[in-house]
Order: sequence, then C-alpha cells, then structure tokens
Amino acid sequence: MSEALFIDVEVDEPVRSDAGMAAKLAEACPVDIYAQNEDGTLRIVEENLDECVLCELCMNEAPAGTVRVLKLYDGGAVLGA
Ligand code: SF4
Repeated sequence: MSEALFIDVEVDEPVRSDAGMAAKLAEACPVDIYAQNEDGTLRIVEENLDECVLCELCMNEAPAGTVRVLKLYDGGAVLGA
C-alpha cells in the first residue's frame, strides 16, 4: 500500500521489467516518480507520487494502457481515460 494520498501509478509487468522502458520513464517524469533499481527494472518512488503534475508524459512513453496514473482524489479515475 502506497503512502500517497492523491495519486497512484500502476505499471504492467512487461514494462516494469524492461530496463529500456524503465529508463525512458525515469527520464520522462518531471517530478521523478520513476527510477531504476540496480538491475535496471522500474522502481516507483512512492514519496514522490503526490507531486504528479498529470502531464501524461509517462503514458506517452509506454505502450498504450501499460502505464496508468490513478487520481485517488477523484475516486481512482484513470488519467486520460
Ligand atoms: S503524469 Fe507526468 S508527473 Fe505524473 S507520473 Fe506521469 S510523467 Fe510523472
């Protein structure tokens, strides 16, 4: 369970375990919600989740639907849906 109050992010497993995709997400997010573990896999930086500016850049880097930004303050509505 995340500490974030306003935003949660879900990323499908094939993207999480793809070092190239993880690097793209880490590069794209302006508030550093994505980082890479030592093995290159994706790490979601929980303490930064509530900094999300809803820019959709992460969603544009990954195959459609594989990265979902959830607006917890809006009943869990999916950004861009
Ligand atoms: S929508 Fe923007 S700020 Fe939010 S997680 Fe994606 S890239 Fe980061």
